[in-house]
Amino acid sequence: MPGVYLYKQFPITFTAAILNNPIEYIHGVSTQRGDMLRKELEIFTFNDLLNYFPLRHVDKTKVDKIAELTYNTEYAQVSGRITDMETLGEKRGKRLIAHLLDDSGEEIELVWFQGINWIQKALQVGQQYVVFGKLSFFMNKPQIAHPEVETFSTEKATGKSFLEPIYSSTEKLKARGLNGRAIGKFTYALLQLITERDLPENLPGAVIQKYKFISRFEAYRHIHFPATEKHYQHAVRRLKFEELFFAQLRLGLIKSARHRFSRGLVFDKVGDLFNSFYTKYLPFELTGAQKRVLKEIRKDAGSGKQMNRLLQGDVGSGKTIVALMMMLIAADNGFQSVMMAPTEILAQQHFNGITALLKDMPVCVKMLSGSSKAKERREVLKLSEDGSLHILIGTHAVIEDKVLFKNLGFAVIDEQHKFGVAQRAQLWKKNTIPPHVLVMTATPIPRTLALTAYGDLDYSVMDELPPGRQPINTVHRFENKRPQVMDFIKEEIANGRQAFVIYPLIEESSKMDYENLMKGYEEVKSFFPEPKYWISMVHGKMDAAQKETNMQRFVNKETQIMVSTTVIEVGVNVPNATVMVIESAEKFGLSQLHQLRGRVGRGAEKSFCILLTGAKISNDARERLKIMVATNDGFKIAEKDLEIRGPGDIEGTKQSGLLNFKLANIVHDKVILEAAREAAENILENDPDINVAENLPVKNYLHQQKGKTAWSKIS
Ligand code: ADP
Ligand code: MG
Repeated sequence: MPGVYLYKQFPITFTAAILNNPIEYIHGVSTQRGDMLRKELEIFTFNDLLNYFPLRHVDKTKVDKIAELTYNTEYAQVSGRITDMETLGEKRGKRLIAHLLDDSGEEIELVWFQGINWIQKALQVGQQYVVFGKLSFFMNKPQIAHPEVETFSTEKATGKSFLEPIYSSTEKLKARGLNGRAIGKFTYALLQLITERDLPENLPGAVIQKYKFISRFEAYRHIHFPATEKHYQHAVRRLKFEELFFAQLRLGLIKSARHRFSRGLVFDKVGDLFNSFYTKYLPFELTGAQKRVLKEIRKDAGSGKQMNRLLQGDVGSGKTIVALMMMLIAADNGFQSVMMAPTEILAQQHFNGITALLKDMPVCVKMLSGSSKAKERREVLKLSEDGSLHILIGTHAVIEDKVLFKNLGFAVIDEQHKFGVAQRAQLWKKNTIPPHVLVMTATPIPRTLALTAYGDLDYSVMDELPPGRQPINTVHRFENKRPQVMDFIKEEIANGRQAFVIYPLIEESSKMDYENLMKGYEEVKSFFPEPKYWISMVHGKMDAAQKETNMQRFVNKETQIMVSTTVIEVGVNVPNATVMVIESAEKFGLSQLHQLRGRVGRGAEKSFCILLTGAKISNDARERLKIMVATNDGFKIAEKDLEIRGPGDIEGTKQSGLLNFKLANIVHDKVILEAAREAAENILENDPDINVAENLPVKNYLHQQKGKTAWSKIS
C-alpha cells in the first residue's frame, strides 16, 4: 500500500492537529517500536513525544582529558587509543574490559556486560576512538560502563558546539535499540515536521512582554535542541511558567466558579450566644490573628456563597476557639454545626473542652464516635435530626450517611489538611444548600504547597501564638544520656509538672513496635517507681474507653508521666505538661516531630523537648534533628520538610495529580510560581470569563486541553 507508506513518511501537514498523530507516523518508529514507547514511556502521540523532555544536555564536541576527570564529572567524552582488550569472568559474571589511553597519558577503563562478542569484534586494539558515557570510579580509576563508541574522525573533533539531549529510557527499550539517543532522533525528526502554527501562543501578549518570554514554538525547539545553554534556560523558564500558570488558572477558575455560582447559607447576624460567650465566658483575649481569621470566616459565611476555607496555623496557635466561636454564630443564625477530629482522644478532648467552656450557656453539645453505645448514639441522632442539637463533635462517625441533621450550616474538620474533595462533598450533601466547611491543618503547609495542592480553597493563616508562650527548648541527646534525661524529668515533676515519653509506632499493628513500647514502659517505670510516681499509658491497641481513662488520669494530674505512641500526636492539650521526650526520634518525620513537640509549651511554664536517638543516625535524620533544635517555627519547618522530602512525597497530594508537574518543581521554582500565580489572578480578576481579545490565546489553549488532564477530578 504505497499510499499508507507515503502518509507515514510525510505526516499530515494538512491537518491542524498534527500533534495528535500517533507516534508511528514518525520516520523510524515501527508499529513494534510504537508499542514499546506507549507501554514503557506512555508516549502515544507527537504531542507526548514533544513533551518528553531531555534529562540534560551534553556538549559532545568537548573532549575531556582523562587525567582531568574527577568525581564530579558526570558524563565524560574522551578520545584515545585502545591499548588492550580482554574478557574476564564466566557466565553471568562475564565482562569485556578495554583500556583507552589518551594524550594526557592516563587510561580509562571501558566495561561491557552485554553484547560482548559483538563489541569485541567491532573494536580493534591500537585504533583511535571517541568514547562517551556516564563516568564512575572503580578502585580510584575512571571507568565507563557500556559507553557509546565512535571511530575518531577529525570532523568530529573540530565540529561546532552541539548540545546533545540525553533522554531517559528504560532497560526494556534499550534492549530494543531505543536508547536515549534514539528517542532524541525521533524528537529531532518531529521538530522538522512542525511549524509555529502547530504550537500557537497560549499566553497573553502582556505576560510574554513582561517576562520577556520566547515563543512557545521556540521554547519547544530549544528545550530539546538548544543552540546554547542560554537558549535552553530561556526555554525551560517559559515552559515552567506555562505549566504553573495554567495550573493556577484552573484552580482559580474552580474557586471563582464557586464564589460566583454556588449558593451558600447566610449567617448574617451575630446574636446572643456569640455575644454572651465573647463578653462572659471567653477565658482570654483573642490574638490579632484569631480576630482577623474570625472576620475572614464571618465575611465568607455572610456572603451568600458557600465557604470552603483552609485555616492554617502553627501548633498551639489557638484554632479551636476560632472554630467554636463560628459554631456559636451558626447557632445564632439557627444552624447546627459539626466538628470532626481524626482520633477519639482528640474528639473527646474537644468535647470536654467545649462543654466546659459552654457549661453556663444554653447550647446543646454532643459527642459521637465509633465507640459510642447504641443507646447514646440513638439519642444523639434523634437530637441531631429534630434540630435540638447545636454542636456535634466526633470522629469520622459524624459524617456517616446515617447521621442526619435538621439544618447543618457549618462543618469544622480539625487537624486534617488531607481532607479531600470527595470527603468534603460528603458533607455538602448533608443539607439542601451545602454547609460552610472549615478545614484546619495539623501543621503549617508551605505557601507553595498551599497554592498548588490546595489552591482551590480559600485560605487563612494564623501566624501568631497566644501571648506569654515561651519558646520550647529543644535538645538532641544520645541514648546513653537517658539516666540524666530521667533525672531532669524528676526535677520537673518535683515542681508540679508532667511529662510525655513517646515511642515510635511505625505500623499500628506491628508486634515489634508494641514490644518496644512495653519495654519502654517498663524502663520508665524502673526510673519512676510507684507509689511515688504514677504512669499513664496510651496506645493504638487499647479500646477507646481505656484510652480515655488513661488520658483523663493524666489530664487530672493523677499520673505524672504519659507513655504513649503517636496516638497522642495531634491536638492533645495538657498545659501542665512541660517535658516531651521522643524516643528513637530519628524515626520520625519533621512535621510529626513538630506536632509531638507541640504537645508541650501550652501553658505559661518553660517547656522542653528532648530528642533521644542511638549513636548511629543517617545524615537525613541528623538534618531533621538539627532543624528541630534550631527552630520552633512550624512554617519554617514545613518549608524545610518540603525541601528535604520533595513535593512528590507529601501525603495526600500524590494521588491527586496536582503536583505532577513535568518541569516545574514547587520547591525550586517558587519565584516562577509566584509570577504565574499573579498572572493568573490578574486574568481572573479583570476577565473572569476569559473573553477579552488579549486573553484569547489562553482561552483557546484551555479549550484544547479539555479532557486531556485529570483536572475534572478536583472540581
Ligand atoms: P491548635 O491551634 O494547635 O489547635 P488550640 O486551639 O488547642 O491550638 O489552643 C492551644 C492552647 O492555647 C489552648 O489551651 C487554648 O485554650 C489556648 N489559647 C487559644 N487562644 C488563646 C489566646 N488568645 N490567649 C491565650 N490562650 C489561648
Ligand atoms: Mg488543635
